[in-house]
Amino acid sequence: MSSAAFPYDTLGPIEGYRVWRMDDDRLFSFSRDAPWPVQRPMVARCLGDGEDRRAPHPSCRCGIYAARDLGLLCPTIAMGTLRDWGMVFGGAIVVGTARLWGRVYEHERGWRSELAYPTAIFSLPVSAQTAPRIERLLEAYAIVLRPAPPALARLCGPTSADGPLS
Ligand SMILES: [Zn+2]
Repeated sequence: MSSAAFPYDTLGPIEGYRVWRMDDDRLFSFSRDAPWPVQRPMVARCLGDGEDRRAPHPSCRCGIYAARDLGLLCPTIAMGTLRDWGMVFGGAIVVGTARLWGRVYEHERGWRSELAYPTAIFSLPVSAQTAPRIERLLEAYAIVLRPAPPALARLCGPTSADGPLS
């Protein structure tokens, strides 16, 4: 029996950093058109091989991703703030934390899990138009707004944090 037996069913919650898109007052996965449910967990699906497999599956890249360090999300945040990104999916960029549980694979840079739910989003400068949408988002998901870590605040200045469509 290996001492590093992954995946494992978590005994306690793991919390990692994530980037979402906020659209229609809901959180969406950053790179897929997948809305995160309100008041119930996001459930990962494995679509590999055309079978109904439990996600995350060891032989593919499925699962709900979260990063161990906020800095690892910088390229994603930068990509999300490109003007053209709004042409693909739309929505403002939201950075925050999510709790992960169920089957979880641990990787060097973070985790991919079977189940997840947002726990907080970071407060960043947003336009007067976006601020009430953030409030509705917090209320819908019953999550809190946390002060942005300084590194994130520097990365997402007033012009970039709002995203192209907000
Ligand atoms: Zn899969």
